Amino acid sequence: RLFPLNIAAKGSARIGGMLATNAGGVNVLRYGTARDLCLGLEVVLPDGQIWHGLKRLRKDNTGYDLRNLLIGAEGTLGVITAAALKLYPIPAGEGTALMQVQGPQAALELLALASATLGEGVSAFELMHKAGLEFLTETMPDLRLPFQNLPEWFVLIDIGLVRGLNPQAALTELFEAALQAGLVSDGMIAQSEAQRQDFWQVRESIPEANRRIGSVSSHDISLPLSAIPEFIVTAGKAIAALGDFRINCFGHLGDGNLHYNVFAPKGHSREEYADLCDRIKRTVHDLVQAAGGSFSAEHGIGRMKVGELERYGDAAKLSAMRAIKAALDPKMIMNPGAVLRLPDQ
Ligand SMILES: Cc1cc2nc3c(=O)[nH]c(=O)nc-3n(C[C@H](O)[C@H](O)[C@H](O)COP(=O)(O)OP(=O)(O)OC[C@H]3O[C@@H](n4cnc5c(N)ncnc54)[C@H](O)[C@@H]3O)c2cc1C
Repeated sequence: RLFPLNIAAKGSARIGGMLATNAGGVNVLRYGTARDLCLGLEVVLPDGQIWHGLKRLRKDNTGYDLRNLLIGAEGTLGVITAAALKLYPIPAGEGTALMQVQGPQAALELLALASATLGEGVSAFELMHKAGLEFLTETMPDLRLPFQNLPEWFVLIDIGLVRGLNPQAALTELFEAALQAGLVSDGMIAQSEAQRQDFWQVRESIPEANRRIGSVSSHDISLPLSAIPEFIVTAGKAIAALGDFRINCFGHLGDGNLHYNVFAPKGHSREEYADLCDRIKRTVHDLVQAAGGSFSAEHGIGRMKVGELERYGDAAKLSAMRAIKAALDPKMIMNPGAVLRLPDQ
């Protein structure tokens, strides 16, 4: 059986941490976030009571949903000590492809085509930009890139199918249909497990390449899917008006989740542009808000984004959150200052 949460921190993350952060990762499209993978919890509440909520029920309409309140609360309402998790069958066959798309709109149409033809077989659909490949070349010259000419935009599609279906054949069929529809101009379908890993390595190395270059400002945003192409154009223009920045925009397109990271021009350091960090963040987050999106898709609030939550969060939701925190943890002993500001801060 498969526990399908696949996040960058998979080597170190614990179950409690993944649930407390409602971690997402690359397979949310198919299996959901940590919240969707949890049936029950055992939690030590701030007053020392133990909530025995480990029932493995799909249906349980017995009042307020404590489980979903605790998940994603970042440890501010209690300590998760045990969990009942959902497991899935391991797909009989898996396949991965890289396809060069005309742009974000074409990528969305390709996603729709993939979902229509492969249904729940689509496990991951990751959008990447040329900037990510350039950063890889710059910071990890030994990494083999599976492209001769770097594409402007491309997607990684990962599928997992039931017995009797051939993933390579399914991806070939998808590619041919997409080519005919004018959505893609080139593509590669992994012919071996080693090649699949090579494709994934490109995607999984991009955050490390970003880290090595060092962003001036990075953003983990989500948007309604249909708003993404216009956001990318509008945000690109707005950032260009602030300076000659490099933008590496990539992420879990199927979830509407983009990692929108802004870097200093080549040959310049992030420190030279530090005074523009706040303006960049405000520009990006204001555009996200205007498009009906979220300034934190999967990275939570922590302490760093408390101000952003106060700025963009719904007032009624915020006051309900404060009331819940005060009722369950009046002494503010659970992860104090995370998610909600302490009274004296
Ligand atoms: C809010 C948030 C969201 C994140 N989302 C993603 C993501 O979608 N994809 C990804 O690749 N990485 C993500 N990360 C990075 C993070 O390292 C992983 O999500 C990982 O799941 C954290 O697990 P950990 O065991 O290392 O927890 P830690 O890093 O130790 O803790 C993370 C948070 O969870 C709380 N916590 C930890 N254990 C418990 C527990 N038993 N009970 C209650 N609270 C607890 C901590 O107080 C802290 O606020 C996220 C990080 C944060 C802070």
